[in-house]
Amino acid sequence: MDCLFCKIAAGEIPSQKVYEDDVCLAFKDIDPQAPTHVLFIPKRHIASAAAVNPENSADVAHIFEKIGPVAEELGVAEDGFRVVSNIGEAAGQSVPHLHFHLLGGRELAWPPG
Ligand code: AMP
Ligand code: ZN
Repeated sequence: MDCLFCKIAAGEIPSQKVYEDDVCLAFKDIDPQAPTHVLFIPKRHIASAAAVNPENSADVAHIFEKIGPVAEELGVAEDGFRVVSNIGEAAGQSVPHLHFHLLGGRELAWPPG
């Protein structure tokens, strides 16, 4: 499949890996919006958070099990951080492979723009 994040998951396109196991990969965003900006992706292609279903939801649960420890390791857990996923055009999803942004290391405004 011609999918950027599938290629990153397969190691065909390099990334700055922060965490990896059989199910998921976390890597630094190429255009960081905060001092810490990491993307968590399932290795299996899922189009977006709106495409999570009983067949693939375990991958998503697995990712959320890893977010806390990785945030701890990156040093953002104590101050707080944000996890966000954009779905579709209006929300600004630019890569159609599910990813969770982990943003931290600065004050984060709410509501987002
Ligand atoms: P979104 O716009 O929510 O779909 O998020 C996609 C994110 O992927 C953006 O923050 C991009 O900066 C990031 N991105 C795009 N290409 C790469 C890449 N090759 N390596 C790391 N991050 C990337
Ligand atoms: Zn993909």
